[in-house]
Amino acid sequence: MTSSPLAADLYIAGRWSQPAHPRSFPVSDPATGELVAHVADGDLPDARAAADAAAAALPAWSATPPRTRAEVLRKVHALMIERLEPLARIITLENGKPLTDSRAEVRYAAEFFRWYSEEACRNLGSVSHAPGGGYRILVQHQPIGVVVLVTPWNFPCAMGARKIAPALAAGCTVLVKPASLTPLSMLALADILTEAGVPGGAVNIVPSSRSGPLVDHWLHDPRVRLVSFTGSTEVGRVLLKSAADQVLKTPMELGGNAPFLVLDDADVDAAVEGAMVAKMRNMGEACTAANRFYVGAGIYDAFVRAFVERMRALTIGHGLDEASQVGSLVDAATRDKVDELVRDAVARGACILCGGEKIPGPGYFYPPTVLGEVPVDSRVLREEIFGPVAPIVRVASEDEMVALANGTEYGLAAYLYTRDLAKGLKLAERLEFGMVALNRGLVSDPAAPFGGVKQSGLGREGSREGMQEYMETKYVAVEW
Ligand code: NAD
Repeated sequence: MTSSPLAADLYIAGRWSQPAHPRSFPVSDPATGELVAHVADGDLPDARAAADAAAAALPAWSATPPRTRAEVLRKVHALMIERLEPLARIITLENGKPLTDSRAEVRYAAEFFRWYSEEACRNLGSVSHAPGGGYRILVQHQPIGVVVLVTPWNFPCAMGARKIAPALAAGCTVLVKPASLTPLSMLALADILTEAGVPGGAVNIVPSSRSGPLVDHWLHDPRVRLVSFTGSTEVGRVLLKSAADQVLKTPMELGGNAPFLVLDDADVDAAVEGAMVAKMRNMGEACTAANRFYVGAGIYDAFVRAFVERMRALTIGHGLDEASQVGSLVDAATRDKVDELVRDAVARGACILCGGEKIPGPGYFYPPTVLGEVPVDSRVLREEIFGPVAPIVRVASEDEMVALANGTEYGLAAYLYTRDLAKGLKLAERLEFGMVALNRGLVSDPAAPFGGVKQSGLGREGSREGMQEYMETKYVAVEW
């Protein structure tokens, strides 16, 4: 599917540059194994150069009028929509997802620039009387400074956009470390940022095959004030420890284990439609992906029959093929973990209702799979699947459903289907998750606060709250 491999350099101080140690690492198309690009491999001297550039750009960018910053961000949105096709193709080539998913990702990513172009001018503070009288309490929000952004491979464009847009809107300058499996989508954004008027040094992108040392170097640079991370809970813990040395602010978007609850009174067609989106968007490679299905005993058979039919009908193929609805998973490790979880559930007594076998290569394809009557001690219900597998459990009561749903260290997203909205809202309050989708299969929206509780993370991205993460609150006690 590819012609000759691309060469991709580091993006530092608004320019493309070679790494100090001339090394590169390969990026391949997971669907074919073909080489897509040689990517410049950033190391500590490059990390230092990028931090110097971000620190140098900070005074001017943070002093740029919010309206000017807003117009730059708005231009980024427009250029991303204009170049939606090439951006989507890059996502598919390096990640494996179908083009329809990639196009949706570019639109979602671009929307963060539009939303934060609007928010940039709404940095509101307050003035109040001190309760004891005498003076005034003046509160304002100032950009926190240079920030480090570390992003995962599953949404290689959107996870960067969700951080870069609010950081720039707030007046911060940024250091981006994209996922080593999928750095091209972030690099593809660099020229758009330049063209839209983001000044040199305000955004620096440094891919690296040695993520640990590179990010650690930044977290110990005294000019850095925040690290925003999206990725696994395991790596999140490492960064939280490292960030403690300089007491950095640490918004964290970590792993999930989303339950999908179908109550006996749910509309079966709507629940199946929602299940398809919650499970199969990105082939299940999403932190918000429905990971386990708890279905009322009264609706179990009808739901499972209709869901299996839809899952079986999906077309598997290379993501660049317009007919493909299920592309390749990102790498062998991801595909093998999915298969391991299926084997474990089957060994414990689950039955395979469709799929359930690895598809021979090239590529890391796994078929849409539904597992029925899954025993509650199965690993597939406790661990992030990150693949197109839906394990279903038959549950006798709503209380039991809520208890099963909450029985995890994760707390990112939950889905709930019922025709009784009042009951749904009451149950939503009892679900220990940062986000609950009620009669919907999708929660992500740039205008909504995205984030988890428990070990799924700290802080929120998107909405007004997302920009506040990149600001410090300054209080001035004023004698009038
Ligand atoms: P990962 O944790 O392996 O890697 C994420 C990023 O961290 C990558 O850029 C990687 O190169 C870098 N990294 C790895 N080790 C590092 C270290 N020691 N120090 C610094 N950086 C390091 O995650 P992944 O496999 O890329 O992504 C999948 C995970 O991301 C899943 O757990 C998923 O749930 C999570 N995720 C969460 C959200 C959310 O919003 N909560 C969104 C998308 C993905």
